[in-house]
Amino acid sequence: EYLERVAKTEPSVRSFLHVAEESALEQAAAIDRAIEGGKALGPLAGVPIGVKDNICTKGLPSTGGSRILENFTPPYDATAIARLKAAGAVIIGKMNCDEFGMGSSTENSGYHITANPWDLTRVPGGSSGGSAAGVAAGQVMASLGSDTGGSIRQPASFCGVVGLKPTYGLVSRYGLMAYASSLDCIGPLANSVEDAAIVLGAMAGHDEADSTSEKQKVPDYTANLRPASELDSRPLAGVRLGLISETMGEGVDPGVVTAIQAAAAHYEQLGAVVEEVSLPSFRQGLPAYYVLAPSEASSNLSRYDGVRYGLRVEGDELTSMYGKTRDQGFGAEVKRRILMGTYALSAGYYDAFYKRAQQVRTLIQRDFQSVLSKYDALLSPTVPTTAYQIGEKTEDPLSMYVGDIMTVNVNLAGLPALVVPCGLDQGLPVGLQLVGPAFGEAELLRLGHVFE
Ligand code: GLN
Repeated sequence: EYLERVAKTEPSVRSFLHVAEESALEQAAAIDRAIEGGKALGPLAGVPIGVKDNICTKGLPSTGGSRILENFTPPYDATAIARLKAAGAVIIGKMNCDEFGMGSSTENSGYHITANPWDLTRVPGGSSGGSAAGVAAGQVMASLGSDTGGSIRQPASFCGVVGLKPTYGLVSRYGLMAYASSLDCIGPLANSVEDAAIVLGAMAGHDEADSTSEKQKVPDYTANLRPASELDSRPLAGVRLGLISETMGEGVDPGVVTAIQAAAAHYEQLGAVVEEVSLPSFRQGLPAYYVLAPSEASSNLSRYDGVRYGLRVEGDELTSMYGKTRDQGFGAEVKRRILMGTYALSAGYYDAFYKRAQQVRTLIQRDFQSVLSKYDALLSPTVPTTAYQIGEKTEDPLSMYVGDIMTVNVNLAGLPALVVPCGLDQGLPVGLQLVGPAFGEAELLRLGHVFE
């Protein structure tokens, strides 16, 4: 049924880089046999899931949206994928994304652009744009994305779906193509908070193969989604929420502000206290992120050298082979990031850029710590706007970067954040972002669930 839906919608949405028809049908048949054999089924038995193409899937092409990995098929599954499969999930295909996660509109994919199912002339967001559009178009029941600076949450907001960026270290990144390793996280996109909770629960938890993975007990994320009694009209009594004032003013579309204010009022009706809070270092987050993320990227991307994987363009000798391979294999935005990062890390500039950005990162962490000691979660828009037109920002990378202002700080602090659709602005979805303390996913999911 889902493959039929993909065949029907894919010509206009184009959210896939690879539809894994054959292996999906095989996995589904294996579930059928398990049912016939009376075997116990996992929590995701038969559920069709799309996977962002920067996550390695055994036997299925995994390009990360880059031409440099055009013919790369990994010999192993990322831990997150292995765990989803063990829970019965059917991997239906690989979803389009900005090259190696670098971008906010999926227009930086080395292959093709993806349309927003709400309006095919608009971007789905990015970098996990295919993952979000696939859920919104009903092509997959849920999907995996990765979030380094907002790449799960921003496309979830643009496509009107749920997206969760977990706490740094909760979900193993073994098998995720590294962009900025101190920020990268894998997380779910889904039609509902409950679906996101189930997918998260199936893949979270310690993994020896990822040295940054935390030894944290994984709760049942679905256990407290609903109030104990349906008759309770104030199920959030005692909950304290902080509305981040820096995200509600200048530069934010009035329609977005209105939708977030309505969401805050809804929380008050349910018994929560909502107060404005300030994060003084908020505005420094974006420049710090765009120093740190490219710096880490410039180091991580050095592995694509024409020797180890993917594309090789022959040259007269080794360095010319490196140069030609990287010149032809990488797109313009990836080259820009490598240049920015290499510059920021170079000996004479290290103190002026990288070191200062790390200091800002500490300030941002302290800001969050201080407000989260007084509030259970923080509220903000996810993006200052709704989905924009395809091509609108491609000529001006800085205008694209500015759109990440509300999401990057959360990565710099390593915190979890949930995005839930909370309303429309001129017919396009607006996502509410809920930020919580480290490993506070269960409470964020409970708070997000009230919009369903
Ligand atoms: N848009 C941001 C960037 O280009 C975030 C990307 C991401 O989270 N992968 O870096």
